[in-house]
Amino acid sequence: MPSYKSLVDKQRTYFKSGATRSLEKRKHALNQLKAMIEEDGEELANAIFQDLHRDGHMEVGMTARAIDECLQKLEEWSAPTKLPSGGLLDPNSDQLYIVREPVGVVLIISPWNFPLITSVPLVQALAAGNTVILKPSELAQHTAEAFERVVKKRFNEELFAVVNGAVQETTDLLSERFDHIVYTGNPAVAKVIMSAAAKHLTPVTLELGGKNPTVILDDADVELAAEKIVGAKMMNCGQICINPDYVLTTSNTKPKLISAIREAFEKQGELRDNAAFARIINERHFDRLKALASKTNGKLAWKADGEEDRIGKFLPPSVYEIEADDELMKDEIFGPILPIITVDGIDQALHFIQEREKPLAAYIFSKCPEATRRFITETWSGGVCVNDLQTHAFVSNVPFGGVGNSGVGRINGKYSFDNFTHEKTVLIRGGVGKEIPLNKL
Ligand code: NAD
Repeated sequence: MPSYKSLVDKQRTYFKSGATRSLEKRKHALNQLKAMIEEDGEELANAIFQDLHRDGHMEVGMTARAIDECLQKLEEWSAPTKLPSGGLLDPNSDQLYIVREPVGVVLIISPWNFPLITSVPLVQALAAGNTVILKPSELAQHTAEAFERVVKKRFNEELFAVVNGAVQETTDLLSERFDHIVYTGNPAVAKVIMSAAAKHLTPVTLELGGKNPTVILDDADVELAAEKIVGAKMMNCGQICINPDYVLTTSNTKPKLISAIREAFEKQGELRDNAAFARIINERHFDRLKALASKTNGKLAWKADGEEDRIGKFLPPSVYEIEADDELMKDEIFGPILPIITVDGIDQALHFIQEREKPLAAYIFSKCPEATRRFITETWSGGVCVNDLQTHAFVSNVPFGGVGNSGVGRINGKYSFDNFTHEKTVLIRGGVGKEIPLNKL
């Protein structure tokens, strides 16, 4: 049984020595990461291709942008705030500050579907002056091994280490004490992570998935909705946490939508030869999706050409017309299957969504401001995108995270940086503070 005690102890000793704290040290770590992405990005992109049969450069580019953003904003995000000392305090001799300090040793556990970008919180954790242990998913094995190789080349394990392994290794890691844990994956395992963290009162950020609804009203641009659905299902073969999981539309719009989806998919050509169409991650997930398709009581409305191939993990996209209690509505689909449920309009669509777990993303296609307003205010979700799918998750300067069953906390840029930073109130009395320069706190 592996023990990670010595690694965690080593990182904590390094952290406590103050070695990670200065802006110079943090910038140095970010520049090392930048060099890693510039020089070894190709190796990482190739590994992603081997795991998922899709281009990995987008993930490399997004990671590079996250590093650049941290380098640019580091001073602003880390700076202590001096507050006016009034009320109880003596403005002549008292100083009041918020000092931003790193939390310590951070554990990041990432999934297989976007193995590099789901690991990006490591960038902000290092930027905030912490040490990091990254546990990539064993399901994206090539990427996990490449990650370990390229990190080992540049980083001392006191500051940043990659630990590879499966459930046993993760369980052993979780028996150690961390100062923050970020887990990205499914809600069932998230409960295991949260229980382990609770033993040490460790704060967690949980980035999970769920069943994301897409409402398409009668006044919607149906061609646009179909194009967006096809774009989303093409991306990573629908294996994305913010993917449109199911559609709610009226009996009037449904036939137009199905034929527009068929046309939009046909424009993509032969999917088997299309480098933009990823493969299912492994045979277990291929079998899971096949079992779903065999258990549905829905009507197959359309299926793309191409023979299913378990060894090659190629699964052609399909669209089903289903009832609300269908097997396809039980769990997150996470693949190229799209169920459509008929509703009679916005009221029934809102009710349908309100009755279920809060999803990570909720989508609506409509030209009606009032229906859109009601969708935003009468549903609960991690984020909303109107007349588009998924794009809200790719913009910077906004929080990204779920709510309820789709997650706890948020990530992205400054929001991630703040997860890994404790805002410490400091009151200095007796005039001593005047002698301490603000930039030394
Ligand atoms: P996975 O199977 O790769 O698991 C994720 C991580 O959890 C891995 O590192 C794995 O080793 C670890 N793990 C698995 N079982 C464990 C256990 N019993 N105890 C401890 N650790 C364990 O990935 P997955 O869960 O299949 O990922 C897909 C899910 O992730 C989907 O639900 C998707 O929606 C979600 N996701 C969410 C986001 C987001 O940002 N919200 C992003 C990507 C994926």
